[in-house]
Amino acid sequence: MPKAPKTRTCMVCRENFDKDDLLRFVVDPANNVMLDVYKKAPARGNYICNDEKCIEKAIKKSIIIKMLKANKSDTLVESVQKSLFTKICSDIGMLKKANRLVIGTDGVIDLLKSNKTKFVIFAEDISEKSQEKIEFYTHKNAVISVNLFNKEQLTELTGLANCSVLALKSSSLSNSLAKTIEFYKKVTKN
Ligand SMILES: [Zn+2]
Repeated sequence: MPKAPKTRTCMVCRENFDKDDLLRFVVDPANNVMLDVYKKAPARGNYICNDEKCIEKAIKKSIIIKMLKANKSDTLVESVQKSLFTKICSDIGMLKKANRLVIGTDGVIDLLKSNKTKFVIFAEDISEKSQEKIEFYTHKNAVISVNLFNKEQLTELTGLANCSVLALKSSSLSNSLAKTIEFYKKVTKN
């Protein structure tokens, strides 16, 4: 029997969601609000869903700090962005080690043709032509794709020179990374 999902309530909209679909915040012993990316910090968890309005209110307008009566901070957005960025880099590294990552145009297209990926990451500075070529297959197979980081950053993360695209083979870590990226995009959006 599959385990029943653990649901938690978003602090802003008060709706219930699967815990995996939420960001978890804790208040540390010094009374500062912290994003708990691994959702394991030994403190009471406070959750935010990935609705843009909830993210806007809770993080960008710092409502979470008031709700939790924590110390004021001008750097909440930056610190959340930084934590999510670090988590994304670490997850990509782990997926690479576990051989769950396919890097480069030809490999990504092969993986898409065999329907073994649900998530593709394009560099923000990939050529339009290359992106269109790959999007032919992502659209066909209803694969989610995002533009994230530039080629230089993807090169650093994957070790492949001039890396402009990568695909995640389906796995639970890939699913979790896709969710983290979705939050990251919304938190970094102006
Ligand atoms: Zn919400």
